[in-house]
Amino acid sequence: MLFSSHFRSAGMRLLIPLTIATLMLIALPFCTATLANYQNLLINIPYILFSVVIFLSQPFNQGRTGFVALIMLVAYTIIINQLQSPLTNDEIKLVFSLLAGLLPFNLLQVHIMPDKRLFSRFGALFSCFLLLQIGWAALVYHHFKDSDLSAWWEVYLFSYRNLSPLPLILLVLNLALTCSNASTILKRNHSSDQAVFICLLFSFLTFTFFHYPFISSVAFSIVALMLLINIISCSHELAFIDQLTEIPGRRALDNELKHLGRTFTLAMIDVDHFKKFNDKYGHETGDDVLKLVASLLKQIEGGGKAFRYGGEEFTILFKGKTIEQCLPLLEELREKIAKYKMIIRDHDNRPHSDHAGLKERGQRKKSKSVKVTVSIGVAENYIEHEPESVLKLADNALYEAKNAGRNCVHQADCY
Ligand code: GH3
Ligand code: MG
Ligand code: MG
Repeated sequence: MLFSSHFRSAGMRLLIPLTIATLMLIALPFCTATLANYQNLLINIPYILFSVVIFLSQPFNQGRTGFVALIMLVAYTIIINQLQSPLTNDEIKLVFSLLAGLLPFNLLQVHIMPDKRLFSRFGALFSCFLLLQIGWAALVYHHFKDSDLSAWWEVYLFSYRNLSPLPLILLVLNLALTCSNASTILKRNHSSDQAVFICLLFSFLTFTFFHYPFISSVAFSIVALMLLINIISCSHELAFIDQLTEIPGRRALDNELKHLGRTFTLAMIDVDHFKKFNDKYGHETGDDVLKLVASLLKQIEGGGKAFRYGGEEFTILFKGKTIEQCLPLLEELREKIAKYKMIIRDHDNRPHSDHAGLKERGQRKKSKSVKVTVSIGVAENYIEHEPESVLKLADNALYEAKNAGRNCVHQADCY
């Protein structure tokens, strides 16, 4: 449930961290006394959790999540070791401002850098880059710590104390960078972008509400936990979700077949003459069609769940449904696909050079509409009780549907 496609939508990728952040801000003032009892544990939790995230990012191939975890771990170490005095002190304010200015930029650059593992030569170079920044910040700190910076605080790093101790300019900067990252998620919806968004959002809130007791430990612990969930959900996605069509794949189907009740119906769906389609329009257009077919199959009613079985074959599993209940739904689906005018990008006519591309975009975006049909074979566990045998019966029925002229639904022979 946690990893259902609903939770992977761009809206949810933003809404979940925002909801948790809001709950944290509401609850924190009421929990201060309780949290004080566990102060030592609380301070150490982010160290442990971020270390776990960093080490898991390697085998789970989640380099970007590993990098943001490293950046957050360094920021947290600075907060705990350098920022535990009141922010009225000018020296502390200097460190606070340097950190609040550098952290969001470091997080954002994870977007643009190549997707490499943390424990690699690239990771070592990146760690050196972080160390260089710390060295530079230390130099700035030592250079300015004894100077009179009152003009700076009043003009540039001015803060509304009632609103936040964070200088206004840094508050706006952090907010703007967090929002720009959120817009990236809406555009391309990558889980690694969500990892960056979680870090930006919670570090922004930590700096903005720095006067709340324990906010850094609580916020950074939440970030580490969410990164951990992100790593697990990404590997789940890789294992069970078909990358092209973004519906569950064969492995997810095999898993579902192991946990079926007494009644279920399986339908095998195959796109008709798909080879010819590929030959005529090209493989990329074929891919677009598979995505569209998958999106239509996903809309099947009656609680059916669609899977990509492989190639241009799909399976729909109806739990707790008899074949009589499913046949009208499948007939409706077949008709819907046959009537659907699929608008697809014209890959063949796509310009090869950037210059040509610009010229074409200035004119009219090229697209074409195509129609495809599917054949469907369906079987219930009425005679055969093993899911694999029911699948075989559905496959035989599909073969008959093909022989009967395609674009039709056939049920298995024994009915
Ligand atoms: P039939 O109506 O009998 O099912 O004919 P068909 O051409 O659909 O069936 P056939 O099994 O001969 O060909 C299936 C084609 O599907 C061959 C392969 O190139 C294509 N195909 C399989 N997977 C993909 C894919 O991921 N993307 C694209 N574009 N084509 C695929
Ligand atoms: Mg086939
Ligand atoms: Mg086919």
